Amino acid sequence: MTVIKSYYGGTYRDGAEKRFAKTYPATGEVIAEVELATKEMLDEAVAMAHEAQKPWAKRSVQDRGQVLIKCAHALREANDELSRLEVQDVGKVFAEAVSADVPSGPDVLEYMGAAIMTYHGTQHQWPGAIGYTRRIPLGVCAGIGAWNYPVQIALWKSSPALAMGNAFILKPSEMTPLSALKIVEVMEDAGLPKGLLNVMQGDYTMGSAICSHPDIAKVSLTGGVETGKKIMMQSAESLKRVTLELGGKAPLILFDDCDLDKAAATAMEANFYTAGEVCSNATRVFVHRPIADEIISRMKTMTDAMTVGDPMADDVQMGALISEQHLQKVLNYVDQGVAEGAELVTGGERVHPQGFENGYFMRPTILSQCNDDMAVVCEEIFGPVMSVLIFDDEDEAVERANATHFGLGAGLFTRDLTRAHRVADALEAGNVWINTYNLIPPDMPFGGVKQSGFGRESSHYAFEAYSDVRATYIALDDE
Ligand code: NAD
Repeated sequence: MTVIKSYYGGTYRDGAEKRFAKTYPATGEVIAEVELATKEMLDEAVAMAHEAQKPWAKRSVQDRGQVLIKCAHALREANDELSRLEVQDVGKVFAEAVSADVPSGPDVLEYMGAAIMTYHGTQHQWPGAIGYTRRIPLGVCAGIGAWNYPVQIALWKSSPALAMGNAFILKPSEMTPLSALKIVEVMEDAGLPKGLLNVMQGDYTMGSAICSHPDIAKVSLTGGVETGKKIMMQSAESLKRVTLELGGKAPLILFDDCDLDKAAATAMEANFYTAGEVCSNATRVFVHRPIADEIISRMKTMTDAMTVGDPMADDVQMGALISEQHLQKVLNYVDQGVAEGAELVTGGERVHPQGFENGYFMRPTILSQCNDDMAVVCEEIFGPVMSVLIFDDEDEAVERANATHFGLGAGLFTRDLTRAHRVADALEAGNVWINTYNLIPPDMPFGGVKQSGFGRESSHYAFEAYSDVRATYIALDDE
């Protein structure tokens, strides 16, 4: 049995006292034993990271940027291997991992390497004085990851931190411990100094130890809202800086003048990609009454044509959910929706594909006749369950779309230019898409408002999350 260890100070480490089993979601088989790092191991890793950080921060931005760009190229070379690990970790289909999810990590790393070379502060002048600001690294920063996009989360968090001159400690989700280790190996081979990027394996106890560690300056979480609240509380003692990338329940508003083909296909993708385990997914699809029957019928046809099963097979569109427990939670939501009056358009049941009978699979599910108070509409399900809601006019759609404590993503489809901008401006979300959904190029920020969190990943805004600003004032006369 493969044993998965923690990696810090440039090598794999012993010292763990407990292990847990890592299963492949598509078969339910245990594929590795993961050693949970101890608090003492974290102390050691943080001390080593501090040693590595000091010379790294002194290197020029050109130098640091070039190292990170080389690392990005090396990770692209390892794209296939990383994608296979992503599939073993998450159970998502290989085609998605290899074409989008995994490459999105090196894309942001490359961007951060290039962007840090041109990132600069401000300059100021007054009678008899000048001033300037510059960004300074925080020291040792940490990332605590969710299980849905382990490669992306590892790199979206660590790359701006490293570019800024910090060292980084990553705690992947206990459900997905595999790929982070390969990322560090590849990056160190490509020239990243040892000790700068470190992986601590563990569950919430390691997450808590990171939050309370006095020598870690910042923690960035990708996870649920309740976890976000705990991270903030635990980080308060050391006044750690915190970035929170939390859950969502995004609205997608389809107006009656939209391109029906594109809108229906996008709504499906915005719900069933990665088996619906995407934080920004548009799980509340608001459809203008005149096109409702047509849109629902098109989506049903497309959903019924989707194949669920072996994530490595070319003809499969949806893989497994992350665990038995999560699958049951998602199925319970569907039952609850139906009990509360929703109509099951399609899906809603567990499936046992041939050869993968013990995997955590279900059919992609569409619920119509939903109302705003149903649990399936109010709560984050994090599975392949779309709720369709009908609306009659624009103001109503916007008001209902905003009636949630989440605020991560939002989208709309219309051919009316002024309406598109008016509605985009009125939606309470960190990311809004018009006539498309869920696209995040590396130079666009990603993150939430309201209880979906704060702070931004990707783009130059991410640098702010991993640095402080220092203002220097210089008197020009000697009096
Ligand atoms: P989770 O909140 O259960 O766990 C996330 C991470 O936090 C894990 O590494 C876990 O070990 C750790 N953790 C849990 N409790 C902790 C505690 N008390 N102290 C410290 N660490 C703790 O989330 P999950 O089930 O892994 O992921 C699903 C959630 O993540 C969903 O809500 C989803 O929307 C969210 N998510 C958000 C984004 C985003 O960018 N906004 C992206 C992906 C997932």
